[in-house]
Amino acid sequence: MSVEVSFIVDTMLGGIARWLRMLGYDTLYYNDLEDWRIINIAIRDNRVIITRDRGLYVKCIKNDLKCLLLEEESTENRLAKISREYGIRLYVDLEKSRCPVCNGELAKVSKELVKDRVPGRVYERSNDFWICRSCGKAYWIGRHWRGIEDTLKRAREISSLYSKRSSGGSVVEEARSSK
Ligand SMILES: [Zn+2]
Repeated sequence: MSVEVSFIVDTMLGGIARWLRMLGYDTLYYNDLEDWRIINIAIRDNRVIITRDRGLYVKCIKNDLKCLLLEEESTENRLAKISREYGIRLYVDLEKSRCPVCNGELAKVSKELVKDRVPGRVYERSNDFWICRSCGKAYWIGRHWRGIEDTLKRAREISSLYSKRSSGGSVVEEARSSK
Protein backbone atom coordinates (compact mmCIF):
# COMPACT_ATOMS: atom_id res chain seq x y z
CA MET A 1 0.00 0.00 0.00
CA SER A 2 1.45 3.35 -0.96
CA VAL A 3 1.38 5.94 1.77
CA GLU A 4 0.20 9.36 0.71
CA VAL A 5 2.08 12.50 1.58
CA SER A 6 0.96 14.22 4.77
CA PHE A 7 1.44 17.81 5.87
CA ILE A 8 1.75 20.21 8.75
CA VAL A 9 0.82 23.75 7.86
CA ASP A 10 2.01 26.85 9.71
CA THR A 11 -0.28 29.21 11.57
CA MET A 12 -0.70 31.60 8.63
CA LEU A 13 -2.10 29.02 6.23
CA GLY A 14 -5.33 27.73 7.76
CA GLY A 15 -7.18 28.09 4.46
CA ILE A 16 -4.71 25.83 2.67
CA ALA A 17 -5.00 23.28 5.48
CA ARG A 18 -8.75 23.05 4.82
CA TRP A 19 -8.16 22.59 1.07
CA LEU A 20 -5.58 19.85 1.60
CA ARG A 21 -7.95 17.99 3.93
CA MET A 22 -10.75 18.27 1.40
CA LEU A 23 -8.42 16.86 -1.25
CA GLY A 24 -7.83 13.90 1.03
CA TYR A 25 -4.47 14.64 2.62
CA ASP A 26 -3.76 14.18 6.31
CA THR A 27 -2.97 17.77 7.31
CA LEU A 28 -2.26 19.18 10.74
CA TYR A 29 -2.86 22.82 11.49
CA TYR A 30 -2.90 24.71 14.77
CA ASN A 31 -3.39 28.42 15.07
CA ASP A 32 -0.74 28.83 17.77
CA LEU A 33 2.26 26.59 17.38
CA GLU A 34 5.87 27.56 17.83
CA ASP A 35 8.39 26.65 15.16
CA TRP A 36 10.17 24.02 17.24
CA ARG A 37 6.87 22.21 17.87
CA ILE A 38 5.99 22.24 14.17
CA ILE A 39 9.44 20.81 13.42
CA ASN A 40 9.13 18.12 16.11
CA ILE A 41 5.74 16.99 14.81
CA ALA A 42 7.01 16.95 11.22
CA ILE A 43 9.93 14.71 12.24
CA ARG A 44 7.71 12.45 14.37
CA ASP A 45 5.13 11.88 11.60
CA ASN A 46 7.34 12.37 8.54
CA ARG A 47 5.19 15.31 7.42
CA VAL A 48 5.97 17.97 4.87
CA ILE A 49 6.00 21.44 6.43
CA ILE A 50 4.21 24.16 4.46
CA THR A 51 4.98 27.69 5.57
CA ARG A 52 4.96 31.35 4.63
CA ASP A 53 7.63 32.06 7.21
CA ARG A 54 11.08 32.33 5.70
CA GLY A 55 12.70 31.89 9.13
CA LEU A 56 10.96 28.55 9.65
CA TYR A 57 11.80 27.54 6.09
CA VAL A 58 15.51 28.17 6.66
CA LYS A 59 15.43 26.17 9.91
CA CYS A 60 13.84 23.27 8.02
CA ILE A 61 16.39 23.32 5.23
CA LYS A 62 19.25 23.37 7.75
CA ASN A 63 17.73 20.32 9.43
CA ASP A 64 17.19 18.51 6.13
CA LEU A 65 13.40 18.47 6.54
CA LYS A 66 10.84 18.42 3.76
CA CYS A 67 9.52 21.96 3.62
CA LEU A 68 7.71 24.12 1.10
CA LEU A 69 7.87 27.91 1.23
CA LEU A 70 4.52 29.13 -0.04
CA GLU A 71 4.78 32.76 -1.09
CA GLU A 72 1.92 32.65 -3.57
CA GLU A 73 -1.16 34.64 -2.61
CA SER A 74 -4.08 32.97 -4.38
CA THR A 75 -5.49 29.58 -3.43
CA GLU A 76 -5.15 28.24 -6.98
CA ASN A 77 -1.49 29.28 -7.23
CA ARG A 78 -0.76 27.76 -3.84
CA LEU A 79 -2.45 24.48 -4.68
CA ALA A 80 -0.70 24.33 -8.06
CA LYS A 81 2.66 24.77 -6.34
CA ILE A 82 1.99 22.04 -3.77
CA SER A 83 0.86 19.78 -6.59
CA ARG A 84 4.03 20.45 -8.55
CA GLU A 85 6.30 19.79 -5.61
CA TYR A 86 4.49 16.91 -3.92
CA GLY A 87 2.17 15.51 -6.58
CA ILE A 88 -1.13 16.09 -4.81
CA ARG A 89 -4.40 15.49 -6.68
CA LEU A 90 -6.17 18.64 -7.78
CA TYR A 91 -9.63 17.11 -7.75
CA VAL A 92 -11.87 16.00 -4.92
CA ASP A 93 -12.21 12.28 -4.40
CA LEU A 94 -14.92 12.08 -1.78
CA GLU A 95 -13.82 8.59 -0.84
CA LYS A 96 -10.59 10.12 0.40
CA SER A 97 -11.67 13.54 1.64
CA ARG A 98 -11.05 14.47 5.25
CA CYS A 99 -13.00 16.83 7.46
CA PRO A 100 -11.84 20.38 6.65
CA VAL A 101 -12.53 21.39 10.24
CA CYS A 102 -10.70 18.71 12.20
CA ASN A 103 -8.79 16.46 9.74
CA GLY A 104 -10.93 13.45 10.72
CA GLU A 105 -11.82 10.76 8.20
CA LEU A 106 -15.24 10.97 6.57
CA ALA A 107 -17.68 8.08 6.38
CA LYS A 108 -20.45 7.88 3.80
CA VAL A 109 -23.71 7.44 5.65
CA SER A 110 -27.32 6.72 4.83
CA LYS A 111 -29.64 9.64 4.32
CA GLU A 112 -31.76 8.70 7.33
CA LEU A 113 -28.78 9.07 9.63
CA VAL A 114 -28.38 12.79 8.96
CA LYS A 115 -32.05 13.71 9.07
CA ASP A 116 -31.71 15.69 12.31
CA ARG A 117 -28.30 17.12 11.46
CA VAL A 118 -28.88 18.97 8.17
CA PRO A 119 -31.34 21.67 7.09
CA GLY A 120 -34.66 20.34 5.79
CA ARG A 121 -34.14 21.66 2.28
CA VAL A 122 -30.74 20.03 2.04
CA TYR A 123 -32.25 16.77 3.22
CA GLU A 124 -34.91 16.95 0.53
CA ARG A 125 -32.49 17.77 -2.30
CA SER A 126 -29.46 15.62 -1.54
CA ASN A 127 -28.99 11.90 -1.40
CA ASP A 128 -25.30 11.63 -0.59
CA PHE A 129 -24.07 12.48 2.87
CA TRP A 130 -20.86 12.04 4.80
CA ILE A 131 -20.14 12.38 8.50
CA CYS A 132 -16.79 13.12 10.11
CA ARG A 133 -15.76 10.17 12.27
CA SER A 134 -14.05 12.53 14.70
CA CYS A 135 -16.23 15.62 15.16
CA GLY A 136 -19.53 14.37 13.74
CA LYS A 137 -20.00 17.23 11.28
CA ALA A 138 -22.21 16.32 8.31
CA TYR A 139 -21.21 17.07 4.70
CA TRP A 140 -23.02 17.06 1.39
CA ILE A 141 -22.47 18.47 -2.09
CA GLY A 142 -24.06 21.87 -1.78
CA ARG A 143 -24.05 25.25 -3.44
CA HIS A 144 -20.43 25.90 -2.56
CA TRP A 145 -19.39 22.96 -4.73
CA ARG A 146 -19.27 25.03 -7.91
CA GLY A 147 -16.75 27.42 -6.37
CA ILE A 148 -14.58 24.55 -5.21
CA GLU A 149 -14.57 23.03 -8.69
CA ASP A 150 -13.74 26.39 -10.28
CA THR A 151 -10.76 26.95 -7.99
CA LEU A 152 -9.45 23.43 -8.64
CA LYS A 153 -9.87 23.86 -12.38
CA ARG A 154 -7.76 27.02 -12.29
CA ALA A 155 -5.17 25.25 -10.14
CA ARG A 156 -4.98 22.41 -12.69
CA GLU A 157 -4.52 24.92 -15.51
CA ILE A 158 -1.69 26.67 -13.66
CA SER A 159 -0.15 23.32 -12.79
CA SER A 160 -0.25 22.15 -16.40
CA LEU A 161 1.95 25.08 -17.40
CA TYR A 162 4.73 23.39 -15.51
CA SER A 163 6.24 19.99 -16.01
CA LYS A 164 8.52 17.94 -13.88
CA ARG A 165 11.65 16.72 -15.57
CA SER A 166 11.98 13.00 -15.03
CA SER A 167 15.74 13.00 -14.69
CA GLY A 168 17.12 14.79 -11.69
CA GLY A 169 13.69 15.77 -10.46
CA SER A 170 14.15 19.47 -11.01
CA VAL A 171 11.12 21.55 -11.72
CA VAL A 172 11.19 23.35 -15.00
CA GLU A 173 8.97 26.25 -15.75
CA GLU A 174 7.89 25.77 -19.33
CA ALA A 175 5.63 28.72 -19.72
CA ARG A 176 4.38 31.25 -17.27
CA SER A 177 1.20 32.00 -19.06
CA SER A 178 -0.26 31.44 -22.47
CA LYS A 179 -1.97 34.82 -22.33
ZN1 LIG B 1 -14.37 16.67 11.78
